[in-house]
Amino acid sequence: MSAQKGFDNGMITAEKWQAIIENDAAYNDLFFYAVKTTGIFCKPSCKSRVPKKDNVRIFQSAEEALAANFRPCKRCMPTEPNLPDQEWIHSITNFINKNYHSKLTLETLAEISHGSPYHLQRTFKKVKGMTPVEYIQDVRIIKAKELLIKSDRAVTEISRMVGIPNTPYFITLYKKKTGETPAQYRQSKCNTEESESEITD
Ligand SMILES: [Zn+2]
Repeated sequence: MSAQKGFDNGMITAEKWQAIIENDAAYNDLFFYAVKTTGIFCKPSCKSRVPKKDNVRIFQSAEEALAANFRPCKRCMPTEPNLPDQEWIHSITNFINKNYHSKLTLETLAEISHGSPYHLQRTFKKVKGMTPVEYIQDVRIIKAKELLIKSDRAVTEISRMVGIPNTPYFITLYKKKTGETPAQYRQSKCNTEESESEITD
């Protein structure tokens, strides 16, 4: 089996061994190491006692280490996102919250946040439990709900205001996320008030 240089699964290079000895957090997303004698796996940054090199097994992901029946270390918690990742993703969700009305794609987000689309997608999912696109959709639907209740703007206009210029798509997405169309939602919310607006199904 051929693999990329430096990332051969299971093989420990001098570089990786150095990272383990020095608890180098810069390697935290690049590999995990398991110790055969303890059955536990760690992030490279883990401050636990340096194992014997012969007992170390390298994995590219925490999932692979788990699949090989190693348990996550309680100290470095290798199945949890790294703190820098959480901060990184937090800055991205902040950006989305402020720019939901603009055109947002995975590529633009990756460019703005200086990461690759692949790495962003993966890290975002790990930290937030959903993809960036799903998050963007959720934010837009929440904003749309506000506008439907607090304004009497037309659905087409609201659709544009939340960054979805394609109104039929907006309505479909809205229904998928909330179980109602925007018009139905507005009607149900406004029924209690003395609204005379002509909203029909
Ligand atoms: Zn550890």
